[in-house]
Amino acid sequence: MTPITDTDYLVVGAGGMGMAFADEIVTQTSASVTIVDRNHRPGGHWNDAYPFVRLHQASVCYGVNSTPLGQHRIDQVGWNKGCYELASGSEVVAYFDQVMRQRFLPSGRVKYLPMSEHLGDGRVVSRVNGDEYEIRAQKIVDAAYISVTVPS
Ligand SMILES: Cc1cc2nc3c(=O)[nH]c(=O)nc-3n(C[C@H](O)[C@H](O)[C@H](O)COP(=O)(O)OP(=O)(O)OC[C@H]3O[C@@H](n4cnc5c(N)ncnc54)[C@H](O)[C@@H]3O)c2cc1C
Repeated sequence: MTPITDTDYLVVGAGGMGMAFADEIVTQTSASVTIVDRNHRPGGHWNDAYPFVRLHQASVCYGVNSTPLGQHRIDQVGWNKGCYELASGSEVVAYFDQVMRQRFLPSGRVKYLPMSEHLGDGRVVSRVNGDEYEIRAQKIVDAAYISVTVPS
């Protein structure tokens, strides 16, 4: 096992919860964050959602604090006509990808390890080549705690 990094926060899961937590840390503090996720990109269960899934609530009320989701538009057609837009699953995934690439990584304080399984206590194994790493963190944040399952 190769120790690769020291970090203030190790966040397990790049779904909505892990992304929102990391966003607050980047905004409110000078701390460093390492995010690991077994998926190949951020967005958590939205990567697995059935293709027609949308948010149940207005886009503007969802996502991380620093970056609005959607344009605050009123839908002109369909069953949501006259109400604030509801992002599709692919819009949610694109949004979290944008937050990662345009906000977190350029901050210089966030490391992102996709395709990486957290085994516990900061031990991480790559799903690409099986290499194991130890991440030494002040705090481990379990952002996979809710264990969302997608009815598909
Ligand atoms: C179909 C559907 C529609 C929804 N619509 C809404 C809505 O409109 N509004 C709303 O507020 N909420 C909605 N929700 C609720 C939704 O679950 C939350 O909004 C939020 O996306 C959940 O994020 P999360 O980070 O808790 O979980 P997840 O999205 O499940 O993310 C957890 C992440 O942790 C990773 N992970 C887990 N264990 C490990 C491990 N050991 N090592 C590495 N990575 C790991 C997983 O790969 C995953 O990426 C909806 C849920 C579903 C299923």
